Amino acid sequence: MNYYSLHHKSPKVSFKDVVVNGIAPDRGLYFPENIIPLSEYFFNHIEYFSNEEIAYEVIQQFVGDDIPTERLKQIIKETIDFDFPVVPINENISSLELFHGPTMAFKDVGARFMARCLGEFNKDNDNQVTVLVATSGDTGGAVANGFLGVKGVDVVILYPSGKVSDIQEKQLTTLGQNITALEVEGVFDDCQEMVKTAFLDNEISRTLTSANSINVARWLPQMFYFFFAYKQLKNKHKDLVFSVPSGNFGNICAGIMAQKLGLPVKHFVASTNVNDTVPNYLKNGLYYPKPSKATISNAMDVGNPSNFIRIQELFDNDVNKLKEQFSSYAFSDDETKDAMKEIKESSGYIADPHGAVGYLGAQEYLKNNPNTLCVFLETAHPVKFLDVVGETLNVTIDIPQQIQAILHKEKVAKQISSYDELKTHLNLP
Ligand SMILES: *Cc1c(COP(=O)(O)O)cnc(C)c1O
Repeated sequence: MNYYSLHHKSPKVSFKDVVVNGIAPDRGLYFPENIIPLSEYFFNHIEYFSNEEIAYEVIQQFVGDDIPTERLKQIIKETIDFDFPVVPINENISSLELFHGPTMAFKDVGARFMARCLGEFNKDNDNQVTVLVATSGDTGGAVANGFLGVKGVDVVILYPSGKVSDIQEKQLTTLGQNITALEVEGVFDDCQEMVKTAFLDNEISRTLTSANSINVARWLPQMFYFFFAYKQLKNKHKDLVFSVPSGNFGNICAGIMAQKLGLPVKHFVASTNVNDTVPNYLKNGLYYPKPSKATISNAMDVGNPSNFIRIQELFDNDVNKLKEQFSSYAFSDDETKDAMKEIKESSGYIADPHGAVGYLGAQEYLKNNPNTLCVFLETAHPVKFLDVVGETLNVTIDIPQQIQAILHKEKVAKQISSYDELKTHLNLP
């Protein structure tokens, strides 16, 4: 399988080069040249496939010959060794829990998959590769955990000072080994901008790659979730809709890829917080990226979602085609908190702020489409947003083992406030 750049000014390259380079030389995101639908047999019998078998069917064409079959199966096995349950909230809305991995955020799957692919490609190479990543919260922890101890790979994580939760900060600043955290004076967009600049800077001596969802190896494994949900819900015989709490729009874009592979999905709802660039675009046709605003669903505080361009490509850059399959709604922090309360009161379920935004999107869609089954993606465990969840719902949440283990570790981070400081750091011997 080859990939082309969405800026169309770079040569086509294979999966390996796409993973190692992250972004094309012309700064475009990579996109697969073909998307070949899976067989009817597969969909008719999906309930008899294990999650590992499903994941292999789904990802195999995108990897091609770059990783031997047995090794790819092993990577998948290590990547998804936890559960992805669908939990009903009411008759029309269910929660797809993606937080049962090691850092309790859905990004564990993409980060683990990418780390293992990169480790595989770099195993006979003497040069270290540096993974440079900006995080608005959850990416950092998942990437740090996924790459910890992977030979031949260093990880440098940039995060906005004071804008991530305590637990999130601990998850990315306490691991040590090949993981370095840089605390940036600024917002997430500043971090993302610094990362983008570094990739274009010829004066940086290290070999850099990205582990944001612009990297295909982080983005594509997210297709698995939608198949796992379908496997559990197929016997309901209802039209399936996914409401995806969205920031950089990588997750929802993976869902649309799953649909291209033949997964029967009626509609996608991209649910956002007040960072509403995409909902506004669908409303008035004007795409105006804005600086990000801080919210209680901070992993979605993105003013200029990188993957939206891939979504447009999937709909042939035709906004009318897009609107047939895709809606997007924005919600305020107050609405999000009210939703968390409503979910708890009506069903006893505790949603984190991101999941609650997804729930609101599902509700909005159901107003005009009452006979559908809407699944919102619960992208993080509520414990990761302990303060908001505790305050809003007046509950105490038991802190799971994997979180307890890091709470007492000491944060190690280097403060930076400009691109030059990042550059100096990256050029240290
Ligand atoms: C990253 C993240 C999101 C947003 O996902 P995108 O793929 O960037 O749209 C939503 N919720 C949580 C908890 C996240 O960590």
